[in-house]
Amino acid sequence: MPLYCENCMKLVDGPICPACRNRKLREVEPGDFCLAAEVPYMQAEMLKDVFRDNGIPFTERLSLGAAITVELGVNFGRVKLFVPYDRLPEAKAFYEAFFSGSAVLIPDEGENPIPDRELLLGHVYRHFKGGLYRVEDVAKHSETLEEYVVYRKLYGDRSLWIRPKGMFLSPVDREKYPDAMQEFRFEPVDDPDGETPEGV
Ligand SMILES: [Zn+2]
Repeated sequence: MPLYCENCMKLVDGPICPACRNRKLREVEPGDFCLAAEVPYMQAEMLKDVFRDNGIPFTERLSLGAAITVELGVNFGRVKLFVPYDRLPEAKAFYEAFFSGSAVLIPDEGENPIPDRELLLGHVYRHFKGGLYRVEDVAKHSETLEEYVVYRKLYGDRSLWIRPKGMFLSPVDREKYPDAMQEFRFEPVDDPDGETPEGV
């Protein structure tokens, strides 16, 4: 069992806590709240949602002093999140997934769930209304971390567009467009050279 510093709510290699010089360390117990992450305020809000959704209890502390957060606003603060020792590996896995940008946290999942379809980068897709577009890349929204497809119109002004990835890969809305000729909003085109995108 690792040692635990009650002052810092942190696991310590021992025998002295390097942060507070506490020498009264003890063996950690399953319910001891331990530091899982220290993150900027906005990210902490998202991480807390993930913990709530997964039933991980947590407690938090602002790690910048109250004076600084009053001066700059709470959005500039950093937050320490603590979870019970026995939930720590789980919480850290969420934290790592969150910061490596993998799919654990997609804030708008409810609105734009991502269908189980592969997105082909550099590939030409046909919109259900007929226009051809090339998928240039996938970008991430800086505030919500939601993924957006970046795609170029292959006719007219050849402008660049973005759309939430979940929406890009979603089926055609059959109630709105009962006569649509394809199943999905955008479908990959096998032979784009054989198409006639102009004038769509
Ligand atoms: Zn300490």
